[in-house]
Amino acid sequence: MLTSAQHGGREAGNPQPNVSAQFIFERFNDLGLAPKFQTFTFKDGLFSSAYGHNVIAKLPCNTVRCHGSIVISAHYDHLGATGKRVYAGANDNASGTVALLSLAQQLRNIERRYNVTFLATDAEEKGLYGAKHYADKTDATNAYVLNINLDMLSPSKKNTLYVMQSANAKTFTENMTMLQEQTFSVKIVSPNRMKRLIGDGRIDWLRASDHYAFYRVGIPYLYFGVGEDKNHHSVDDTLESIDIHKYQSVVKFINDFMVSLLSCPSDCTS
Ligand SMILES: [Zn+2]
Repeated sequence: MLTSAQHGGREAGNPQPNVSAQFIFERFNDLGLAPKFQTFTFKDGLFSSAYGHNVIAKLPCNTVRCHGSIVISAHYDHLGATGKRVYAGANDNASGTVALLSLAQQLRNIERRYNVTFLATDAEEKGLYGAKHYADKTDATNAYVLNINLDMLSPSKKNTLYVMQSANAKTFTENMTMLQEQTFSVKIVSPNRMKRLIGDGRIDWLRASDHYAFYRVGIPYLYFGVGEDKNHHSVDDTLESIDIHKYQSVVKFINDFMVSLLSCPSDCTS
């Protein structure tokens, strides 16, 4: 649905939430999560200002001992269209958006020791504006202990899922290697290591996606992504170019990780 012509490449900027924002809102709503739009403005081009619309849904902690709040983010916006050429943005980032919706569905039904916010951001492609707006609006009373950012989850030839972590997020990945995975490999890396491993040092992975907005305000982050994609920001980033089987196993891996994190965090015995 998100990659269909009807969604027109999901470009940010309209005063009203576009069809993609409404689609996400409806999915959260169907799950009973009482979603909200968060509208903001950003500078598009030199002079004009444009509108963006985050979609936000929340699941509260439902156990006696709660350990704070986690925000899971994925940007739903993409590049739009030029004439008849629609940028479907299947890997970037329908893949993360659908994973976010799937997590919202799965995590409803488990014991949660954290409050969980699901944040579908807008205007990431224009400069991480949706995530920055959200993170900058987060006051101390609502401080998050962790951001999980999902951006580009369809494995390429390298067949690797990278989990890039800030130095202050390491406790959250301590048990991650215990999760079994055969269809792709999982590499837990720092931003510097990710930079060396992928793209010959050209790509600044710390600033490349929405986790940077949370990093800026001191919130630990884990970024899940597959690294470079030869179809990145081209019209060839389509649903057909995605290996659905591998993509599903990535989503399942993230789901299993989230279930274990929410049910028994590293400090749950303390
Ligand atoms: Zn992206």
